[in-house]
This record gives sequence, structure tokens and C-alpha cells, in this order.
Amino acid sequence: AKQAGKGTFCYYSTDMEAGAARLLDLQRDLRRALANDEFVLHYQPIVAGNHTHHLNAVEALIRWQDPHRGLLMPGVFIAEAERFGLISEIGEWVLDTACRQCAIWREQGMLIPVAVNVSAVQFRSQGLVVLVESIMRRHGLPPHMLTLELTESVAMDDMTHTLMMVTRLRELGVKIAIDDFGTGHSSLAWLRQFMPHELKIDRSFIEDIEDDPSARAIVNAVIQLAHALKIEVVAEGVETIAQRDLLQAQGCESLQGYHFARPFPATELEGYLRSHNPL
Ligand code: C2E
Ligand code: CA
Ligand code: CA
Ligand code: CA
Repeated sequence: AKQAGKGTFCYYSTDMEAGAARLLDLQRDLRRALANDEFVLHYQPIVAGNHTHHLNAVEALIRWQDPHRGLLMPGVFIAEAERFGLISEIGEWVLDTACRQCAIWREQGMLIPVAVNVSAVQFRSQGLVVLVESIMRRHGLPPHMLTLELTESVAMDDMTHTLMMVTRLRELGVKIAIDDFGTGHSSLAWLRQFMPHELKIDRSFIEDIEDDPSARAIVNAVIQLAHALKIEVVAEGVETIAQRDLLQAQGCESLQGYHFARPFPATELEGYLRSHNPL
């Protein structure tokens, strides 16, 4: 493998044989990571889109603490985990860990809802509803404390299945967010049927709202559309004050991005709250 830049790691060599060997290594390493508990979750604040910037929730994001290669980001292993059929196990670990953490915070008097990313494979499996239900029960967590984030493309993939799953999850009481909204091709009719609790506008639009009037027009239109349907909006990838102010002016409910906080380990939440949400 070769170093592809600071903090990233490329498993693929241009050399085919080395590439194949590398993939076997990765498959073996991912299995070991599961067995040895090498995955960790970091949590990124999702804050209110008003001057309080009160903490509304956190998104759980997986990292892999590899003993040799250090902290690896999901971009270098999630797609491979899906290909190797390991994503269900990893996804189950993520759900369980995030819900356990949420329950711990709750016991400590911090009511912080968590959002968890659900992979395509997990969403296609019938077992997801029962899994979510048993995890909520295991940790004694009220279902509204959990949001499942599903990408727009996964939600659009098999609409009949999506509607069935979302109906059952809604009955359970967990919330559904459409992630990376704007990168897929949802229709208005579809959104109206589906009725997720939240839309998360993809970072690529937020990135351009300061300079590109058409990106700004799209973002504003998405916010208005969502509000007309009583769906809340989260803007992801908010990095600047100008972006923040434009989004707040549009009435975007929640904001997430490096401007507010990078993802951090669970142990840092209390410190975050102390410095950002003083009494
Ligand atoms: P995502 O769900 O769209 O998550 C947001 C990503 O944007 C995260 O990257 C986050 O660290 C990053 N981010 C947040 N704010 C900013 C910002 O202001 N600027 C920039 N440039 N980036 C920002 P991360 O943690 O590397 O995750 C990447 C993707 O990996 C996620 O995209 C999600 O699709 C996937 N992923 C992460 N954790 C999990 C997981 O537990 N399960 C599954 N299935 N996928 C996961
Ligand atoms: Ca997400
Ligand atoms: Ca996203
Ligand atoms: Ca994204």
C-alpha cells in the first residue's frame, strides 16, 4: 500500500497483483478489527440554526483504530467492508455502540439524540427493524433519541421496500433522515409519500452557497420545500460564518460542520457542552 496523503491511506496499488494481495490483507484486517474491537465512534455536533447554536444532536461517525496504520477514516474501508459482506456486522456494532453511548449520556443528565448512518446492505435487510428494536430495548432508550440516516440514493433504490421499512421504523418511533440530499434524484411525489423527519442537504451545495447563486437558490428551494412538507432541514459541511448566516436566514433548523465542531470521541462531549452551552 502507499501513502496517499496526510491521514489517508490507499489500499490499492496500480500493480494488479499487489492490489489483490492488499485486498486480502484488508479483508483479513477488517475481520480482525471486528474481533478485536478496533472500531471507534466519533460524534459530531448538530446544532440549532439560530443564534443559540444549542446542541440538537450528534452524528456517530466510525473510525478504525488500526494498530499499525493509526486512525483510519470510513472513506478508506466502508466500501470494502460492504464488498466483503462485513458491513452488517459493523453496522450492528455501530448501532449498538451509539445507542449505548446515548444511554450513558442520558444517565449523566445529558439528553443528546444520536444519528447513525445506515448502509445500503443494512437497509435492504429485513432484520434491521428487529435489530433496532432490540438495541433500543437493551439500552432502555426512548426511540425518538435515535435517527437513522439513509442516503438519498439508498432510499430511492427500491421504493416499495423503502416505504415498507420506513413505515415499520416510524411505528417503532425512531426518526428517519435523508442524507446527502440533492445528490440523488428524489421527486416531490416521492418525498411526499416517504415523509422523512429530516433532510440533510449535501455538503457540496453548502460549499458553494456563498459564491454560486444557483447553489444558493437550490438550497433555499430545498429548505422551503421541506418546510412546506413539515420536514426539518439539516445543513452539513458548514465551514464558514457566511454559510452559517445564509442558512440561518433561511430558517434551516440544524447546522453541522467544522465551523461548529469536528467529530470527537464521546469523552469530549461534556467539555464541548461546558464551553458551548453554558447555563
Ligand atoms: P456522511 O454521512 O455524509 O458524514 C459526514 C462526513 O462529512 C463525515 O466524514 C464528517 O466528518 C465530514 N464533515 C463534517 N463536517 C464537515 C465540514 O465542515 N467540512 C468537511 N469537508 N467535511 C465535514 P467521515 O467521518 O469521514 O465519514 C464519511 C462518510 O462515511 C459518511 O458521510 C458516511 O457516508 C460514511 N460513514 C461514516 N460512519 C459510518 C457508519 O458508521 N456506517 C456507515 N455505513 N457509513 C458511515
Ligand atoms: Ca450521515
Ligand atoms: Ca451526509
Ligand atoms: Ca455527504
